[in-house]
Amino acid sequence: MPDATPLTPGITSGRLSAETLSQNFDDLHPAYAPHEAAVAADRCYFCHDAPCITACPTDIDIPLFLRQIQTGTPEAAAKTILSQNILGGMCARVCPTETLCEEACVREAAEGKPVEIGRLQRFATDTLMRAGKHPFTRAKSTGKSVAVVGAGPSGLSCAHRLAMHGHDVVLFDARAKAGGLNEFGIAAYKSTDGFAAQEVDWLLKIGGITVETGQRLGQELSLDELQNEYDAVFIGIGLSGVNSLRAAGEEREGVSDAVSFIADLRQASDLSGLPVGRDVVVIGGGMTAVDAAVQSKLLGAQNVTIVYRRGQDQMGASRFEQDLATSKGVRIVANAQPVAIHGNGAVAEAEFEYTTTKDGTLKGTGETFRIKADQLFKAIGQTLEGAPEALKLDGRKIAVTGAGRTSVKGIWAGGDCASGGDDLTVTAVAEGRDAAEDIHSTLMGGK
Ligand SMILES: Cc1cc2nc3c(=O)[nH]c(=O)nc-3n(C[C@H](O)[C@H](O)[C@H](O)COP(=O)(O)OP(=O)(O)OC[C@H]3O[C@@H](n4cnc5c(N)ncnc54)[C@H](O)[C@@H]3O)c2cc1C
Ligand code: SF4
Repeated sequence: MPDATPLTPGITSGRLSAETLSQNFDDLHPAYAPHEAAVAADRCYFCHDAPCITACPTDIDIPLFLRQIQTGTPEAAAKTILSQNILGGMCARVCPTETLCEEACVREAAEGKPVEIGRLQRFATDTLMRAGKHPFTRAKSTGKSVAVVGAGPSGLSCAHRLAMHGHDVVLFDARAKAGGLNEFGIAAYKSTDGFAAQEVDWLLKIGGITVETGQRLGQELSLDELQNEYDAVFIGIGLSGVNSLRAAGEEREGVSDAVSFIADLRQASDLSGLPVGRDVVVIGGGMTAVDAAVQSKLLGAQNVTIVYRRGQDQMGASRFEQDLATSKGVRIVANAQPVAIHGNGAVAEAEFEYTTTKDGTLKGTGETFRIKADQLFKAIGQTLEGAPEALKLDGRKIAVTGAGRTSVKGIWAGGDCASGGDDLTVTAVAEGRDAAEDIHSTLMGGK
């Protein structure tokens, strides 16, 4: 192990002790104790036409589950949540509640302090999952089979709902492990102790779902074969490509994409073995940029800067995420775009140009500046890769109408790879579930 510190130049591992790393990557929102949960749930006004429900992409009956917690029946609360959102445990950890249910909560408008819906949802779902219970059972077999491609949130949610309706599901994924970005993307301090894998195991307890990993659509699998072998196909392959910076010097050593860095971090068994730069620059403005920057800092990088090309108020990352970054010592530079990556072989400096917006168009001002960097992460968005040619696209995503119907009969799509909706875990879950309902009624002759 190198005897490194945060000041050691270059990209190196072991900048912090194992103890500090374990503290740094501890749970972001620690779980409630039962009494705390009952008190927190009691703050709910149980509003009629509750705005929090409307703000939830999966339409969870929030006042009902809060009432169930308040009356000491957290397992019933969990069932209320999971009947709408089977990944309610993960969503309780990763949803940007500050821009969804908690932003809409009337207590937020009145007092600036919403009911802590996310943490309460976690309390309920963790209680049920800890008891090892799966609250749903399969309907009688329909004799129909469905191929679900992609075992991320959209595919898992679709597969579960189909299995519940009595269909046989084969869930294919290109990777060696199911879970999608829950397993490979979400920040380590949001999903601790292997929760993503535990949740997949728990979800599969419904029965009727066979998982086949190492199966990539376009390589091991073809759409034609799937169409021939199954009664319906759902595609939830997410966005696995990354945008390029289009700045000179992008190929220099030390420049990589933020999603791969985060995937390595999520799969590392020992964080002290994971190398990180002393001077890290992250280019982008979304959750991926914030997660890469915060986790670099937590690994022991001395200086971490996020550079975003538009104003800070236009960043995709919520205010809460931005504040989290700055509270960890990350610097945010807004209104600057990359023009060149300098260095002799490896990156040494990144050069940016200030920007301004004129008549709605972003323009460089001509004035440039440089930031020292021995590691640079690109976090400027993911792109669709591997979508079958037979499917029509809408812009850069698979075109869908209604509950995920693609341009080809018998094929549905949802989650990040499909048009419409935000690229969020909870939206992917909602789309997978709704597509499953549409597939079910189509297969049973309803549509
Ligand atoms: C770094 C990062 C952090 C994020 N943090 C948050 C957060 O905190 N909160 C939040 O709400 N959202 C977050 N998101 C967004 C969220 O993770 C996604 O919106 C969500 O995972 C989308 O689910 P999905 O099922 O559509 O796709 P994915 O989760 O991407 O899953 C797609 C699956 O398909 C598989 N696959 C891909 N191509 C093929 C193929 N050709 N054949 C077979 N299988 C294939 C992949 O291996 C993967 O398992 C984050 C995203 C990133 C990148
Ligand atoms: S808006 Fe807030 S107070 Fe009203 S039902 Fe929802 S959580 Fe309760």
